[in-house]
Amino acid sequence: MLYQSESFVVDFYKDNIAEFKFCMPGSVNKLSQQTLQDCGKALAELAKRDDIHAMVFTSDKDHFIIGADIFEFLPTFQLPEQELVGWIKNATDVFDAIEDLPFPTVSAINGMALGGGCEWLLATDYRVASESAKIGLPEVKLGIMPGFGGTVRLPRIIGPDNALTWIATGQENRAADALKVGAVDAVVSQDKLLAASIKLLEQAIAGKLDWRAKRAVKLSPLKLNKVEQGMCFAMAEGMVFGQTKGHYPAPMMAVKTVKAAANCTRAEAMAIENANFAKLAKTPEAAAQTGIFLADQHIKGVAKKHAKANDKPIKRAAVLGAGIMGGGIAYQSAYKGIPIVMKDIQPQALELGMGEAAKILGKKVERGHLKLDKMVATLGKIQPTLNDRDLEGVDIIVEAVVENPQVKQKVLASLEAQLPTGTILTSNTSTIRIDELAQALKHPEHFCGMHFFNPVPKMPLVEIIRGEKTSDATINVVVDYAVQLGKSPIVVNDCPGFFVNRVLFPYFAGFSQLVVEGADFAAIDKVMEGVFGWPMGPAYLLDVVGIDTANHCTGVMADGFPTRMARQDKDPVAVLANAGRFGQKNKLGFYQYEPDRKGRLKKAKDADAISLLSSICAAPTQFDKQTIIERCMVPMINEVLLCLQEGIVASPQEADMALIYGIGFPPFRGGAFRYLDQIGLANFVAMADKYAHLGAIYQVSEQTRQWAAEGKVFYK
Ligand code: NAD
Repeated sequence: MLYQSESFVVDFYKDNIAEFKFCMPGSVNKLSQQTLQDCGKALAELAKRDDIHAMVFTSDKDHFIIGADIFEFLPTFQLPEQELVGWIKNATDVFDAIEDLPFPTVSAINGMALGGGCEWLLATDYRVASESAKIGLPEVKLGIMPGFGGTVRLPRIIGPDNALTWIATGQENRAADALKVGAVDAVVSQDKLLAASIKLLEQAIAGKLDWRAKRAVKLSPLKLNKVEQGMCFAMAEGMVFGQTKGHYPAPMMAVKTVKAAANCTRAEAMAIENANFAKLAKTPEAAAQTGIFLADQHIKGVAKKHAKANDKPIKRAAVLGAGIMGGGIAYQSAYKGIPIVMKDIQPQALELGMGEAAKILGKKVERGHLKLDKMVATLGKIQPTLNDRDLEGVDIIVEAVVENPQVKQKVLASLEAQLPTGTILTSNTSTIRIDELAQALKHPEHFCGMHFFNPVPKMPLVEIIRGEKTSDATINVVVDYAVQLGKSPIVVNDCPGFFVNRVLFPYFAGFSQLVVEGADFAAIDKVMEGVFGWPMGPAYLLDVVGIDTANHCTGVMADGFPTRMARQDKDPVAVLANAGRFGQKNKLGFYQYEPDRKGRLKKAKDADAISLLSSICAAPTQFDKQTIIERCMVPMINEVLLCLQEGIVASPQEADMALIYGIGFPPFRGGAFRYLDQIGLANFVAMADKYAHLGAIYQVSEQTRQWAAEGKVFYK
């Protein structure tokens, strides 16, 4: 044994070739600060030995190294900037020590090598990947950029244009693609990985491969002249701005770092990287995006507990209704391997549902993401039927018929009567209280809400709504099913609108009030998209949701919360709905829509909508950007706070992930609670108080006021 620590062992593999094997406790290798320190010590000792002539880095896990330990990030990022620079420099020195070993080195890359794992392999002289390896630098997704020499070495190995694409998008690259750009030297099957790596080292030792020349490339400035550099970086900056709209500082900082270090020695380049890394780590976006990763881990952990507690395997499911939602649910279940019966009362609906599933699968085949036989097998797992008898033997049913409480109650009661007691019933209702639907059932303990979002295959969130009488066992089954569908379930308690729609409608109400006071809805959209960062502004979102649907939901929410969400006398949504402008579905809403050449609906201003709205709206009035943001966001955030206070949602993490996954809350803000932490709860209360005269949606609760006085923060 040459060296041993908690997370790696080093020994001779054969002759004078040493193997440095990562074997950390747990299921994956990740680089904690302690591990890096241990690596640094080991490398210093190993470098001194004259009996080592080459070294291979391997992993005893399914993956090489999945990255740095993200759980350590946020406390570290709180260090003062200068201390952070010192911390990152120490870590970077370890990677330099790999690169400076006095013998040739190779990484034998199995599975994932991401972030710090990728930076590790960039520091070695050679890289051999298994066919299934995935390599990438996803740091920008956490609001930071590659450190440990990632922005220095990758551009020198694969060229700055390829490197900037990898770094700015954070994409994971398949081994074959990494080979094409020269990020790895060879791709072999997993069983040949070690042998191929050793062979490469033997050739290097024998002088058949010039490993010193290969290393020198990484130690030198970039091989581009001034003009080439100018073009390459201008293009990268343009691409990044187009993608981030200026909301995400990390990718742009990465481009600037590579650019600033283009003509530098390694030491100078590392100093630039370290300084810029520390700057980014101090941004609110880094806290927000890293926070999202951690919150996602939290919700996955909660879901895993429920799923583990489920002792009823789900072998077959059913969905009632083959409409937009039912068709999507059937597709998703079949695609994830759980056979599903899709029942409707109309044969055309079944044809449409099957057609939709075939279309999505066909596209995957076309793009080479799916084999034809898997498409056929997936379609074979959906059993369309008009007959209730085909539901026999299913373990779970998702009701996705029309949004009408009487129809839903009738359908659910009839299902319960036909099926064995204990079959799990769920409803995909978006607004009707689960307790109201449960009144039709003899065994409400076997029933809960399962609220998918549209389009089902794309949207990660499923709200699982616990009714007053829903049993824990039922929640466990339904969470388990959602996890098996590849979704991110969040369990919430029952109330009108549940969590997501309950907080969305006050936001729409804030928007509507502004419009009634004479604000231009397109100007509001522009601010809420361009400045606050929503993927769609409120008018556009209402058109996508459907103005008729939104109008109906406004009524449901008004009935559910009459003091806070009563329908306004002058309601732009009702005016448009009553005029038959239902949004994108009939190409007329706040905007009018026309398909572009690719068939995608493009919005345009429509004089008819403006004239219709003028009947209830004040004369055009200008509102500044901050007022627009505050008047739309205060009602939503106020309601989010109430949901936590009332126990509708269990934790800030679950609330924030539901907002991000369900309605696209700007990820660089990290969710409503992260946003509150960043602006300060007391400042939020002061902001809301300015508008308290406008109505109850702006009035904060006593609990919120008390929390603000205590200086409460939601994320420590
Ligand atoms: P849809 O109108 O597209 O489909 C409803 C389907 O149910 C129709 O095909 C209809 O024939 C069928 N149906 C009606 N009665 C039936 C019965 N007794 N048995 C079997 N099938 C029956 O509606 P949708 O948009 O898919 O919505 C379905 C449910 O999902 C609603 O409760 C809705 O609120 C909810 N939801 C919709 C969305 C959305 O964006 N569309 C999002 C989340 C939740």
